[in-house]
Amino acid sequence: MAKRVIVVGSGVIGASIAFHLAKAGAHVSVIEAGETGGIATRASWAWINASWGNPEPYFRLRVRSIAEWHRLQKEIPGLAVNWCGGLIWDVPPAELDAYAKERQNWGQPIRKVSRDEILAIEPNLTSVPDFAYHAATEGMLEPLATSLALLDAARALGAEVLAETPVKWLAEEHGRVVGVMTDVGVIHADETVVAAGAATAQLLDSVGLTLKMDAPAGLLSHSKPAPKLLNGLVMSPGLHLRQTAEGRIVAGTDFAGADPEGDAEGLALDLQAKVEAMVKGAEGLGLDFFTVGNRPTPADGFSAIGRPHRRNGLYLAVTHSGITLAPALGLFAATEILTGARDPLISSFSPDRPSLS
Ligand SMILES: Cc1cc2nc3c(=O)[nH]c(=O)nc-3n(C[C@H](O)[C@H](O)[C@H](O)COP(=O)(O)OP(=O)(O)OC[C@H]3O[C@@H](n4cnc5c(N)ncnc54)[C@H](O)[C@@H]3O)c2cc1C
Repeated sequence: MAKRVIVVGSGVIGASIAFHLAKAGAHVSVIEAGETGGIATRASWAWINASWGNPEPYFRLRVRSIAEWHRLQKEIPGLAVNWCGGLIWDVPPAELDAYAKERQNWGQPIRKVSRDEILAIEPNLTSVPDFAYHAATEGMLEPLATSLALLDAARALGAEVLAETPVKWLAEEHGRVVGVMTDVGVIHADETVVAAGAATAQLLDSVGLTLKMDAPAGLLSHSKPAPKLLNGLVMSPGLHLRQTAEGRIVAGTDFAGADPEGDAEGLALDLQAKVEAMVKGAEGLGLDFFTVGNRPTPADGFSAIGRPHRRNGLYLAVTHSGITLAPALGLFAATEILTGARDPLISSFSPDRPSLS
């Protein structure tokens, strides 16, 4: 008989796990406290990359996830990833060279480009350095639309998605997690997956488990829509830029955004002014809105995925870089939950590692 699995959380991580579980034949219920699609997910800059984040095991996981995004694009109609590539020069030149060399040694096609080549890639930039690196295999997507597309694809495979249904705590019997407690009582399952983003630690706490994590705030400014001004992602010092499918230029002090520290509107207006100075054609465009998101981040900065303390019936997946990592983590979680086989690419990312307890 098909395993009954509850996935708590419908952000990009929960949605990907739900899709992969449903595809593998599980009977899946996604339970979401608020609107479907996630919280951090909808506030994300949504750069799919391998060029950010050391060390090598994390790089390898990201490279695999990029390949899995290509697979998902074929499997799920309407899932749009823009493989636009990105220009990187947001660290001092010597550091940038060393960093690019490391990635080249690991096999990433990241290429040094001259000033003229930078301007050929992004002719509307007003200020460019003597050189940068171009990561051609990276891309971006619209995060909320993506988690909704994954949830739709899960539904088409038989999953149910319950919105506005907060999980109050994990239900436990004789040391085994047997489901979740909601306003309408306990919903039972053979397996419960916690993919609750920044709220993950709180839910684990309800069964006496500790997961050290942070959720730093990050602000991104969104301009009013403009005709196409940028061809890809731009990672410059103090300003990361991308243009969305609907034409807005989304900017942060870096992709993760800065903590607004009480003056969110001031920071957003400052970012928008920098965008308008940096991009020819964006002058006078104006700020449309800004978002402040909290990045679910295990305390050492890397993903936490697996069965915490081998607790029967329980699995968790929480990570920064969830846009990049959702396809691989979704696939690996579904496989481990249903077959017990743990992919070697997540062997370093057990939730039981000492830095998280
Ligand atoms: C500003 C910013 C920039 C970022 N930039 C990038 C980037 O460029 N590239 C990249 O790869 N990543 C980036 N990230 C990180 C990425 O967005 C996150 O890692 C990812 O969205 C996390 O997805 P998630 O599904 O785990 O969390 P979420 O999207 O937060 O989803 C968790 C869901 O769980 C639900 N939930 C919580 N508690 C309960 C409960 N008790 N009961 C039921 N439901 C519950 C919540 O309502 C929510 O919908 C960025 C994040 C931010 C904030």
